[in-house]
Amino acid sequence: MSNGTSKIPVDAAQRRSAKPIVCYEVDSLPSYDKAVYEKAKISMEKTSEVIVPPRDGATFHVPAGHFFRIVSVEGPQVGDLNLWNANDLSERFYSGKTRQLHSSHITTGDRLWSSHPNLRPMATITENTLDWYGWDEDGAGVHDVIGTRCDPYTNYLLKEVDYNNCCHSNLIRAVADNQHISYDEAETHVHDVMNVFMCTGFTKDTHQYFMKASPVRPGDFIEFFAEIDLLGALSACPGGDCGSSHSNDATPCYPLLVEIYKPAVGTLENWQKPSRNEYSGKHISNK
Ligand SMILES: [Zn+2]
Repeated sequence: MSNGTSKIPVDAAQRRSAKPIVCYEVDSLPSYDKAVYEKAKISMEKTSEVIVPPRDGATFHVPAGHFFRIVSVEGPQVGDLNLWNANDLSERFYSGKTRQLHSSHITTGDRLWSSHPNLRPMATITENTLDWYGWDEDGAGVHDVIGTRCDPYTNYLLKEVDYNNCCHSNLIRAVADNQHISYDEAETHVHDVMNVFMCTGFTKDTHQYFMKASPVRPGDFIEFFAEIDLLGALSACPGGDCGSSHSNDATPCYPLLVEIYKPAVGTLENWQKPSRNEYSGKHISNK
């Protein structure tokens, strides 16, 4: 970022030594009550599953109070996840705010928050078999909410070639099929993703977004609890494990499996469906 031409002030060291403060008072967020979800998980039974083909997308529905898992099958593969309120697509996953309320990479106990004016948990992560990875020596972690999604516009900008199986396009086709709408209309619904299984960070010297081969292996999964009725769309990224090249047909890619689970009746008595954000919505200045 720095071009090294600005004049260094005499008190530069003092200015740089200001204490970092976590931006949001996250201690006041509703805490993750593991016991509530664990009780429901014991009895849950699989009700359906969806295979997401390599370099393509697929949608799935998860009723509030159900769980869903994204499972690695056949080989290491990254997935780009979009979520909507199944009854109102204007409420959708808010990657940036999720990052600010939790972290650049999310794991068990973190929520996936929805867009304004709703700003409520859409889903809660209840299990992550890659929890062990933590932060590696490059500063990388798994399951980021930093990256946007690979898309054909950026690809064209950089390479001047058309490629139609970027996650952005895969999600568009999946949503268009599900909603019976045109690709143009579906494109307005596709948004910044959660990068499932992707291993990413920022380079230490230039702070650029980097990716490295995902540690995910067949059998690994991440599990979510649907706090509201969800429509999900998942793309099996053309980057495969995102360990080398991207947005082409040469990289090995594998399918991803989405499983939907229903807990037994009566096992969720201590769970409450989150209500929409209660801000008045007036935006009237107090000045
Ligand atoms: Zn992608």
